[in-house]
Amino acid sequence: MNVLIINTGSSSLKYQLFNMDNQSVLAGGVVERIGETQGILTHKDFSMGKEQKTKKTQPIPNHKEAMLLVADLITQEIDAVGHRVVQGGEAFKAATRINEAVKNAIQANNPLAPLHNPPNLIGIQLAEDLFPGKPQVAVFDTNFHQTIPPKAFLYALPYEYYTDYKIRKYGFHGTSHKYVANKTAQLMGKNPGEVNLITLHLGNGCSICAIKQGECQDTSMGMTPLAGVMMGTRSGDLDPAIFGYLMDNTGMTQMEIDEVLNKKSGLAGICGLNDLRDIHARASQGDKLAILAVEMFAYQIKKYIGAYAAVLGHVDGLVFTAGVGENDEIVRAKALAGLSVFGIEIDPDKNNKRSPDPRTIHGSNSRIQVWVVPTNEELQIATETCQVLGSNPTS
Ligand code: ADP
Repeated sequence: MNVLIINTGSSSLKYQLFNMDNQSVLAGGVVERIGETQGILTHKDFSMGKEQKTKKTQPIPNHKEAMLLVADLITQEIDAVGHRVVQGGEAFKAATRINEAVKNAIQANNPLAPLHNPPNLIGIQLAEDLFPGKPQVAVFDTNFHQTIPPKAFLYALPYEYYTDYKIRKYGFHGTSHKYVANKTAQLMGKNPGEVNLITLHLGNGCSICAIKQGECQDTSMGMTPLAGVMMGTRSGDLDPAIFGYLMDNTGMTQMEIDEVLNKKSGLAGICGLNDLRDIHARASQGDKLAILAVEMFAYQIKKYIGAYAAVLGHVDGLVFTAGVGENDEIVRAKALAGLSVFGIEIDPDKNNKRSPDPRTIHGSNSRIQVWVVPTNEELQIATETCQVLGSNPTS
């Protein structure tokens, strides 16, 4: 069964085609800068046993043109389409086959994810038009977090803000947390229901999850992906009074402050750079703000590990994933330094070794296992698409 995974952003479209009989990638790529003067399409086909790359630079005015270009390059039969949808709200506890009611429910969640859900819906509509009769499945970033109990997902605001305005923690990166949690349990020789894990998705966006016996108990992102640990350009958690204080004292509008919190804060806010490779290079030259940015980042990660260890009571493993989590031994070492009191000790040699494979980096005396497990959100979406459709995707 060939499953096409589509992830539509506001100006991009990422896709991957899997043969789910053997979980191999047949093709994949990305269309970037949709709507700008020059769009870029990068397509890779692996079906002939080796990578064949196609690159096109041309105006790509909208997502429809992008999808048409992609459909033209995919030569294989498509049996089903799985869509990444960012915000499922409380309506969706699990991946769901798409029909009119599901599309309406996704649209009803637009106010909660105004930058993400509308392009996701465009992707769904275009795939329905291009691949008529093929089943479509939505896999939501928020699904995995729907097991978080009210005591953890509610904000201490007037309760009717939750009932009237749906203000609560939803959490994001759920597909990634679920994938690495399942994979790590498997690598430990256990079922997901047998282990307690703290998963750390540290990329441009960062989120941390407390997972008890396969079920998410809490996560660092909130109603929006701005909350939690500081990120590449996002502030993470703040004193909520700062927002009004900035409005009163700087003359900035709400939109301008929003832009600062999302695009000019986090690591970039402290030292002017958001990519940790550049920040480490600067720090090694003695740049004080680059050093401070890394210290702050590692400190905030450490606090969440401590908090989630308390939430879980017993922790079997920590799992680092995504661009920073998989590749940045400095951040991992700093975040875990001094945690031997919790039973966490890393082996510096294992931590410093680079590898694209899942691996452990804990020392022989560590009570808690520490894993680095590359994430694969697309494969998780493809797997859930197959699960939703059962054995007969064309039914
Ligand atoms: P996204 O959230 O956009 O999917 P990724 O998971 O790809 O992000 O992570 C991107 C970030 O990962 C980069 O901004 C960079 O900080 C970090 N990163 C990637 N490779 C490395 C590396 N080799 N060493 C340190 N950090 C890295």
